[in-house]
Amino acid sequence: MNTEARNDEFQVRSEPLQALTPAQVLRVYSGRPGCMCGCRGNYYCQNDGDDSRGEKKSSAMVTKVLRTLQAQDVVFAGERDLDGRAYVFADVGARHYVAYLVAGVEVAR
Ligand SMILES: [Zn+2]
Repeated sequence: MNTEARNDEFQVRSEPLQALTPAQVLRVYSGRPGCMCGCRGNYYCQNDGDDSRGEKKSSAMVTKVLRTLQAQDVVFAGERDLDGRAYVFADVGARHYVAYLVAGVEVAR
């Protein structure tokens, strides 16, 4: 897949991690390491979000995971998922936390 071409499909807005708001987060993941299919954790979307992938609806969890990521010294950003969405990832204690951002938003490097 040519990610460069995908990136050109929409205007990308770079935000510093600390400036991201919950409204800019499409869905989040919280779970134990090893597998991210959902068997070791959960995906959450906004209360009014698209749960067609089996996400639980919880705007509170979306906010909690975003704030957890923003509190870390080291997060991984700059990568995109298969849909071309930017995401932010960190290991915190014994859990993986991931925030997948809405289209057109990425974390400034
Ligand atoms: Zn699994």
